[in-house]
Amino acid sequence: MPRLAFVARTNEPITVATRLPTMTTDDTDAPQVPIVCSACETTSRVPLSGVANAVARHNDQLHDGEEIAQVDPDIADQIADLVATELGLLEDS
Ligand SMILES: [Zn+2]
Repeated sequence: MPRLAFVARTNEPITVATRLPTMTTDDTDAPQVPIVCSACETTSRVPLSGVANAVARHNDQLHDGEEIAQVDPDIADQIADLVATELGLLEDS
């Protein structure tokens, strides 16, 4: 399960990223997370700890606060899954 290494490295930032919006900039070694915007047709990679802020800022500045840009759904699923696993919420599934 190579993904477990990702969990261990990103324990705190993942928690932050799932609790919008929070700014945490002290983790300079955070993995990059892709943010996709279907309206702009762009993908940008930002540190995991800054994802929530980056998404909020993009949508606020470019889309009048509409939640168009988002973490790549595939990655978001993985993050949610990893966080749940980390917290032991998936033990019986
Ligand atoms: Zn956009």
